[in-house]
Amino acid sequence: MSEEPTDGPADGLERRDFMIGSLASAGAVAALAAAAAPARAEAPAMPGATLTGDTLLGKPVISALAVDALATGRHQCYFRGVEGVGGQPWHVSVTVVKGARPGKRALLTSGVHGDEISSIRTVQQVMAGLDPAAVSGAVTAAFDISRPALEGMARRWPGSGRGIELIDMNRVWPGDRDGSSAPARHAALLFEGLFRGNADFAIDFHTVATGMDSTAFHLADMTRPEVAEMAMLYPIDQIFDSTGGYGGLLANELLAAGIPAFTPEVGGPRVLDPAMIARFVEGTMNVLKHHGIVAGEIGRTGRDSGIFTGDAGYPVVATHGGVVELMVEPREAVAAGQKVAVQYDAFGDVVAEYSSRVAGQVATRRTDATCEPGTTLMVILFDAGSRAPETVYPE
Ligand SMILES: [Zn+2]
Repeated sequence: MSEEPTDGPADGLERRDFMIGSLASAGAVAALAAAAAPARAEAPAMPGATLTGDTLLGKPVISALAVDALATGRHQCYFRGVEGVGGQPWHVSVTVVKGARPGKRALLTSGVHGDEISSIRTVQQVMAGLDPAAVSGAVTAAFDISRPALEGMARRWPGSGRGIELIDMNRVWPGDRDGSSAPARHAALLFEGLFRGNADFAIDFHTVATGMDSTAFHLADMTRPEVAEMAMLYPIDQIFDSTGGYGGLLANELLAAGIPAFTPEVGGPRVLDPAMIARFVEGTMNVLKHHGIVAGEIGRTGRDSGIFTGDAGYPVVATHGGVVELMVEPREAVAAGQKVAVQYDAFGDVVAEYSSRVAGQVATRRTDATCEPGTTLMVILFDAGSRAPETVYPE
């Protein structure tokens, strides 16, 4: 094909677009340069932060933080995480609101899974509502912890160490600086450089995984009074009284490091759910008030929303492949033996019917209409009266 320009109307349009685009961007560059000039002059010192010397998008890049030494105010920076294949670090967006008076230090985290957007927005809204002049202590937020997963709206970090591998970052905490995967090293950098030492308590926000929907619930170890107090301050639907029966969860590892922590689940993945977010923002503000970080009256809590607490989750697991029709909604009460799902094969014939073996409440249920053998169709929260460490939790 010829690479000569043509004279058609399309070409004329392209040329006009180019001109407009050039003028607009030239103006924008001039405006940005003018705006950036004073910032560059002031930029430098951030007592309490270990600066790498880099500036990214006008914000300082740090490799460690001690919030106690920060000046009063709102600080935005990037925390330098592990490097990607191109040699560039995965930077995590961090905001600290350092209060004018001494007090407790809160840590709010989101984005450990990359498809859980309502959890990120919850933390953003809490931070936006804080005024340093009215804060006692400090609130540190890390918004986008698993950046590579977030780029693909995916739960897992796409690693390339041994060919393609998808790594669940909420199974690798507290990480390992010399670990055999990038996410493990990323986790260690954050855990040691940003989390430990800056938190008197921590809240790691999630939603359920892609393909599922859920109530508003927490995973929280209610046998720990300091955790139970915080968890009950949310006007939500349910609490899974457990920390999960497997290692590597951020909240578990914070607890192991002596930092009371739990895991709110802000509904379904991939979307922004404003009504759901509002309940978790209100609960988080209640927690900050409870700890004296902000002043004001406690809002609605779990007493107002009638939280249902269970210590076990019964997973209804598909035994066949096919299309599944679910017969119960999140938060619906189910009886032992109640039929909860019907499954059809490719001909439309019923191949399976599923019942609950327990009496409880539906916590999560599948939104994708197809399933394979082994797929969890729903999880029913119930009270087993004893800890069930083999339970799979939908964080
Ligand atoms: Zn998650």
